[in-house]
Amino acid sequence: MEIKKVVVIGSGTMGSGIAAHLCNANIPVVLLDLKTEIAEKAKERILKSRPPLLFENSKINILKTGNITEDFKNVADADWIIEAVVEKIDIKHNIYQKIFQNRKKNSIVSSNTSTIPLKILSQNLKSEDKKDFCITHFFNPVRYMGLLEIVIDKTYSENKIQLLKNFCEKILGKGVLICSDTPGFLGNRIGVYAMQVAMTEAVNMNLSIEEADAIFGRPMGIPKTGVFALYDLIGIDLMSDVLKSFKKELPKNDAFQKVADGIPIINELIKTGYTGRKGKGGFYRINKNDGKKILEALDLKKNQYFEAKKINLQINKMNLLELINRNDKYGKYAWSVISKIILYSSSLVPQITEEYNDIDEALRLGFNWSMGPFEMLEAIGLDNFFDKITNIENNNFLINLKNKKLKKFYGQRQKYTNIETLGKIKKSVIKIDKNNSAEIYRFNDFNIVEFNTKANALDYNSMDALKKATDKPLIIINESMQFSAGVNLNYVMEFIKNNDLKSVEKFIKYFQDTCKHLKYSNKPVISAPSGLALGGGEEVLLQSNYVVSHTNIVMGLVETIVGLVPAGGGCKELLWRWTQTEHAKKDPDFASLKVFEIIGNAKTASSPQEAKPNLFLDSNHEVIINRNNLFSAARSFITKNPHFKPPQECKFKLSGKNVRKKMQKILDDLYNSKKILDHGMIVGKELAYILSGGETNLQNEISEDKMYELELNGFMKLIETKQTQERIKHTLNTGKPLIN
Ligand code: NAD
Repeated sequence: MEIKKVVVIGSGTMGSGIAAHLCNANIPVVLLDLKTEIAEKAKERILKSRPPLLFENSKINILKTGNITEDFKNVADADWIIEAVVEKIDIKHNIYQKIFQNRKKNSIVSSNTSTIPLKILSQNLKSEDKKDFCITHFFNPVRYMGLLEIVIDKTYSENKIQLLKNFCEKILGKGVLICSDTPGFLGNRIGVYAMQVAMTEAVNMNLSIEEADAIFGRPMGIPKTGVFALYDLIGIDLMSDVLKSFKKELPKNDAFQKVADGIPIINELIKTGYTGRKGKGGFYRINKNDGKKILEALDLKKNQYFEAKKINLQINKMNLLELINRNDKYGKYAWSVISKIILYSSSLVPQITEEYNDIDEALRLGFNWSMGPFEMLEAIGLDNFFDKITNIENNNFLINLKNKKLKKFYGQRQKYTNIETLGKIKKSVIKIDKNNSAEIYRFNDFNIVEFNTKANALDYNSMDALKKATDKPLIIINESMQFSAGVNLNYVMEFIKNNDLKSVEKFIKYFQDTCKHLKYSNKPVISAPSGLALGGGEEVLLQSNYVVSHTNIVMGLVETIVGLVPAGGGCKELLWRWTQTEHAKKDPDFASLKVFEIIGNAKTASSPQEAKPNLFLDSNHEVIINRNNLFSAARSFITKNPHFKPPQECKFKLSGKNVRKKMQKILDDLYNSKKILDHGMIVGKELAYILSGGETNLQNEISEDKMYELELNGFMKLIETKQTQERIKHTLNTGKPLIN
């Protein structure tokens, strides 16, 4: 059997997300709800979703909508029927009855429930039907969250599990964990427990919500939404329903029960419509003052909102041991939360899973943690943990570890998949070099560079690593969320603060040299991005020989937003790609104008499908839906190209002031319609100067080095201006653009 048609019943948040992702994978899907109009509305929501649920809007055409009365016949020839209706058992039972009366033999039927046990869902099914029924628990937003928990009964056929697992792994790109039928499965059992602990301990220890989110966030390898902002994002009312179910399903003596109630203010918030981002606000809200948007945070003691405070913990790099040993309230809070998470998770092995490793993976894939609880334990060090912890009574997992007197215990990673991933091979690589921003590994006969700064922002060290690693074929890849958010602007601004423009120039020149080196080195350079590949990050991609791109990426040259121009070869390389198009051969100004439009508007693409038409990706790329496959795809490029030859250097013929006149006209129109202001005009002119080739004409040939020089000069002229510096500072502080 093959899965060729899917019916999704229930077109709310999850049903529409699942249906959209099936469209991404080109699987015909029918989305049914009580009324066709509801499912049609879901279609509109999918198209408007941010971040987008679809790789490209045209994918929506694969989706058909309908209602559960007239269109239920679609169930008859579906290979997989997914129920994603409201979390009400009676409604679900009625739907299953109807499905099993109408479905074809052998089709798979699953529920997306987060809280109802499988044995209750399937209690009315005939035993032969139970063999085809399971839970497939997707996470929201479906396109972006890697985790899929499949919960099966022991009677489920092994073939069926493999079929479904393979489909979800290969076609939908999910990390599939097969779980037992225990409350909250793996991800939510630990993830929601962790949130509850982080919330209750914050109140017990008198921390403000900003302080709690600052610690239970990046310093712990957890997304910056921490706990309170995550509550707002998920919906405070939805969290409350999930917790009610945990309270009901878990044994009375389960440690989760102690924190399941959360904090009293939650009921008040829900009652008054403060359900989070979708409501009037939640723990945080945006308030308008004099037309200015201000982020406010709830003071839990005063029950009042005040302007949110920035908490500076003075932490540059994640280091759990340092964090829990800090001699301040933050250190105490971190230890209290982390130790409880470790204690709870380990107390549930083997009860909820035999593989402790699966718990870590569930937190990585379902909550975007960079380490799961067991990896946290390994990172803290067993000795350090046992020195500090007061009570491990009844925790056989930890007692065992302690008795064994081991220094390290962590075995294989990512046991749930057979794919050869970066995470797995790290055990057998040789560490060639490491600096503050990147590591170089040798695996077989090639090198791997992994960046490891915040959002993988690039600095001298990142460049050094790249340059050093080109003695062998090189794969640039990383396990963290972002490929690279661009050149580290904080780093650049430090030079500016000291009036040290020479150092800025030297750094950008070094970036250019590195990118050029990547492009022309004798060994292939393959980039394998996922997440953000912006600015400098995109420039590295543009000048790699091959790109293996995950479907969840954001690519673009966005420098103009901060009043700069791409200067690591981004203008040059994108221009080169556009000069190679058929249209450019007929019109010498076409490429310059096109790239002027793309970079000038800081266009971004949120999938490889969208990146291609902008030529952020050229023909030398492939698209990978399962992030775990990035490494092996990059590796097979090396194997398949033993006689790799670097590209020929490119030469440009540009029309100089001729095309600049056309660009100036575009800028004048934008200025007159107030779409750009004074500084926007200055940035636009610099960009125009570079993309027109400077003082040249169509008879001249311009070298790549000349283009690099134009980029560098443009960059330096702009960074010297007060207005660009203001833009950079504003963006660094607020994450938002400043229009000046
Ligand atoms: P939702 O409230 O957004 O959507 C439910 C949809 O079901 C609505 O469109 C409703 O009209 C429809 N519906 C109700 N009764 C129906 C019926 N008899 N036939 C057809 N459609 C019917 O809910 P949701 O958040 O998408 O949750 C759906 C399921 O997924 C639940 O079981 C929930 O526990 C689970 N889940 C939710 C999340 C999440 O983050 N929201 C995450 C994982 C799992």
